[in-house]
Amino acid sequence: MSALSELYQEIALCKQCEIAEYRTKVVPGEGAEDADIMFIGEAPGWHEDQQGRPFVGPAGMYLDQLLASISLKREQVYIANVIKCRPQGNRDPLPSEIQNCREWLERQIELIHPRMIVTLGRYSMAMFFPGKSISKIHGTAQKQDDVIYFAMYHPAAALHQQGLRQAIEADMLKIPSLLVQVGSISELEQQPQQLNMFEV
Ligand code: URA
Repeated sequence: MSALSELYQEIALCKQCEIAEYRTKVVPGEGAEDADIMFIGEAPGWHEDQQGRPFVGPAGMYLDQLLASISLKREQVYIANVIKCRPQGNRDPLPSEIQNCREWLERQIELIHPRMIVTLGRYSMAMFFPGKSISKIHGTAQKQDDVIYFAMYHPAAALHQQGLRQAIEADMLKIPSLLVQVGSISELEQQPQQLNMFEV
């Protein structure tokens, strides 16, 4: 069993927060164990809680389309959330829940060792860009210890607001050239495609 699968077993036993009592399934994360890019969302929603998989509802379908715009499939990246259990009624995660779950995310990052971490939405951004505002820093990258941190809007927010949708689609297209900078792909491999408007 891989170290990541062992970690999933530990996460499945976690009962640190009250929301663990109400979950159908825990949603640790999924994707390539050697992924170059790790996407970090906020928290599981209803669909994710049912299936135990991240980003499988409407926001997930949109994320899949965004990935396709840079010729990536979800199996080629790693997708996780800041918290691993669904907050009831899709409320925002509590600071205590983020704190309790932090260890799991840190261990995932350590095991996957991505070259690039893409934050999706405010809660994920706040972990890596503390004190920043998403409207100011989305689409910008910071490099630290050979890892690129890149902030994007949350796909669920972008789905329903035209302005954010244009921004998230444009920001996604910046990823291939950022990966070239960390030597993850060669210039020849990057083939960003212009997106057609998504109908999700
Ligand atoms: N929104 C998130 O932040 N994460 C998911 O897994 C699904 C929706």
